[in-house]
Amino acid sequence: MKYERSSALFEEAKKYIPGGVNSPVRAFKSVGGTPIFVKSAKGAYLHDEDGNSYVEYINSWGPAILGHTHPEVLEAIKLQAEKGFSFGTPTELESEMAKFIIDNVPNVDQIRMVSSGTEACMSAIRVARGFTKREKIIKFEGCYHGHSDSFLIKAGSGAATFGTPSSAGVTQGTAKDTLNAKYNDIEDVVELFAKNEGEIAAVIIEPVAGNMGCVLPENNFLQKLRKLCTENGAVLIFDEVMTGFRLAFGGAQEMYGVDADMVTYGKIIGGGLPVGAFGGKQEIMDCLAPNGDVYQAGTLSGNPLAMRAGLSTLQLIKKDENFYKNLEKNTETLDFEIAKILNEKDIVHRINRKGSMMSIFFHTNAVSNFDEAAKANHPLFNNFFHHCLRNGVYLPPSGYESWFISQDIKEIEIEKTLEVVKKFEYSNK
Ligand code: PMP
Repeated sequence: MKYERSSALFEEAKKYIPGGVNSPVRAFKSVGGTPIFVKSAKGAYLHDEDGNSYVEYINSWGPAILGHTHPEVLEAIKLQAEKGFSFGTPTELESEMAKFIIDNVPNVDQIRMVSSGTEACMSAIRVARGFTKREKIIKFEGCYHGHSDSFLIKAGSGAATFGTPSSAGVTQGTAKDTLNAKYNDIEDVVELFAKNEGEIAAVIIEPVAGNMGCVLPENNFLQKLRKLCTENGAVLIFDEVMTGFRLAFGGAQEMYGVDADMVTYGKIIGGGLPVGAFGGKQEIMDCLAPNGDVYQAGTLSGNPLAMRAGLSTLQLIKKDENFYKNLEKNTETLDFEIAKILNEKDIVHRINRKGSMMSIFFHTNAVSNFDEAAKANHPLFNNFFHHCLRNGVYLPPSGYESWFISQDIKEIEIEKTLEVVKKFEYSNK
């Protein structure tokens, strides 16, 4: 494959945009090489500026669960665009969207739309703090809740990829209110609650983590967190920016049968346009301006194009009663078949998977927290990534990210992917 045009465009971009990208992981810094510049995407495939095509396992980091440029979503956006792009006034469409989400997910009495997952999580903890009149929050090492200051402390995703899980520029004043616990380690959380009695406003968690690679909650971890939060009067926030409408229509709450007090969304609910949302129990959401004294706002919040794209995506998913079953079946096939091939090659690895999220860790141990994810053989992942890329399979360019399977990844794409994995050569010896 040739990457001449992508390379030239990358050099050009670096002149105008820091690192040539508008979000760090896109720069391929950890895997090395030149990022591909995408020209278009359709269904299960990305097409780059050099004319190469790839089977897609990122899908815009989650939103494109229907595959790229779904014709019905495209039509919905076109129709909406003719009516106007943005008004900065209330629209009926916003209520339609809010009602649809509330009717279909547990524990959300009211919801407010924003323009990114970052905003959603940032706003959710502000509301939780306003509601509880407390200041500290507990999060988990390796989880990522966007790039607002409070969360860039032992964070996952790009922050972990680049070895800066705690960002420069976050003040000590802010950092002191963010307490980190180990994912899946309930004793750690018990201890933090004990040491900070009456001070914890919220516990925020990715109920299935996707930002240290895919890591699953174990031993009823979420249920235990629920109990601890109730006992200590803290707000339990599920960050379902990735998992919402991906694991199940009701997200991780539905899948694990655990009730959160607040939930954040993003990605899928925007159908590929910029969206986030946070919602929760009525008494908590009542704290929000203009009703309450917690301020939060946005020029483009509830943007009609994003609402239309999101709503039409959600409605299409809802219409297909086998949607999640099929996604999971295909993801399971990928998992089993890739594992079989790697085992035949004697390549030590672990695959974590839930629904249509999965990650390969080249590691001997099970990966159930950030420490184990970090101990995996990341240079080997980088080789694997480049092998796949060169052969037309596009994986997330970091071992600290989840793959996102879309409904357009079918037998033929799986076959192609497995053929590529079969060609991967590496010796453990
Ligand atoms: N929460 C989670 C779980 C995420 O995965 C992300 C982004 N990948 C965010 C929050 C932040 O969302 P955004 O990038 O839209 O700001």
